[in-house]
Parts: sequence; C-alpha cells; structure tokens
Amino acid sequence: MPNYTPRFYGNNFDSVIYQDLTMGTHEYILALLLRVWLRQENPPPGRDKFYAMDTDKNTATAVQWGADEWEQFKKEFKRQAYAAWNDAFVLIPPAKFDGFVDPEGVRRRVRCFLEIQLVDSGAPNVHTVDVARLANPGDWLRANADSGPGDIPGHFTSNDLKPVTRTGPYMQPIKTRMVNGKLRYSGGDPSGRTYAWQQHVLPHEVGHMLGLNHVNQASPACDRSANSPPCYGVWGSQVVNIMGGGDALDLQNAEP
Ligand SMILES: [Zn+2]
Repeated sequence: MPNYTPRFYGNNFDSVIYQDLTMGTHEYILALLLRVWLRQENPPPGRDKFYAMDTDKNTATAVQWGADEWEQFKKEFKRQAYAAWNDAFVLIPPAKFDGFVDPEGVRRRVRCFLEIQLVDSGAPNVHTVDVARLANPGDWLRANADSGPGDIPGHFTSNDLKPVTRTGPYMQPIKTRMVNGKLRYSGGDPSGRTYAWQQHVLPHEVGHMLGLNHVNQASPACDRSANSPPCYGVWGSQVVNIMGGGDALDLQNAEP
C-alpha cells in the first residue's frame, strides 16, 4: 500500500488512494488520515478538582482522569468517528475522468475511508484537543475542535460521549407554483409536529477537523458568528445533518 501524503486544506489531514484486492473489493480506496492529540486536562497539583471552561466561558467542575476512563474515552472517540465517517461515501468518477480505470480496463468507483491516529505530541499536521473529565454527568460545555493543526487547541469533555437529543419542527423550504391560475404554497411545517433526533457531538467535531464548516455557513443568516443558531441549519435536512444538529450525512459532507 502506498504511503499517505499531505493533501487538501493545508495539513488538516493526509490522504492516499490505492486498490487493495485482498479486501474483496475492486473499488479504489481513498483513505483520509487524521492525526489527533487528545490531552488530558487535570486539576492543578495539590487539588482534586477544577473548573473546566468552554469558549462561551461556561464552566463545570472537572476531576482527575483515571487510566481506565481515559482509555475508554479515546476508544469511544474513535469508534463514534468511524461509525459516522469511515466507509460512508462511494464516489463515482465522471465519465470523462479515466484516473480510476484499473489494469483490467474496468472503470471503478472510489470508497472513502477514514483513519484516525491518536498521537502523544503536537506537530504541524496534528489536531490538538484538551479533554476534561466532568464530575457531574448532567453538566454540559460546548465542544469545539481545534482551529487547525498547530493552532488554538480544541476542547472536549467526558460528557461529549453521550448523544444529545434535539427537538423541533422539520421545516421544508417554501415553494410557490401556479395551479389552475391560482398560487399554491408548499413547504414549511404544516403538521405543526415536533420531531426528536440525536446528535453525536464528537463526530461533528471530527467533521470540523476534516475542514468542514457548519451546514448553513454560507447563508447570510449565519453572518453574525460561526456558532449562531442559523449556522446549524434552518431546513429539516440541515438541522439533522452531522454539521448541523444531527447525525445524518449528505453530499456536501463528502467534500473532504
Ligand atoms: Zn460545530
């Protein structure tokens, strides 16, 4: 298998393309390699707790990591990230592109894999995140990824392993059309129903590490701040997206 080489968005991740016939698939593999340094955030010497703080300046009581909980956190971070992002997309090369024709002359598709390497030191191609172990299972701080490898570290807590349940309407874009000379509307949420869905926070943050913005980042409604509510989506398909407030993937999430 060829080596990973740095690609795309500076040093956010490395990538490699290969064909591995031992895997029982003839499709090409595009694998992204994300390097992450998860750093324990512990109480200062002589203390058994401290206040962990997020970017909104909210605080929560945090305690010393135990070896078992720490291993569990790292394992679960990877498991959730893989569940969301690994082998999630199959790319179909356009007809005019012949880069994925194999030695037998057959046109192949490209399956997209994610590999996460947890490392123990910083480097220009490593995402660094401080992780606090919260004392109270009900406390919540805003999770955030680093602002780029070698830049401001991100911040997670032990409670980010638990999925968050969100509720709201499932709004559809308003459309108008003429039917028999009369203007008809569709969209909105005529049912008035409230829906509930879940989001796994850490895979959303991994999306940021891969270079993705919030699902509605391009909208003028999101101009105020990258974390203002409209950025997470207005329409149903946006609010359930992994880069909005849910777990779902769509085509724009394949960009990396
Ligand atoms: Zn986000």
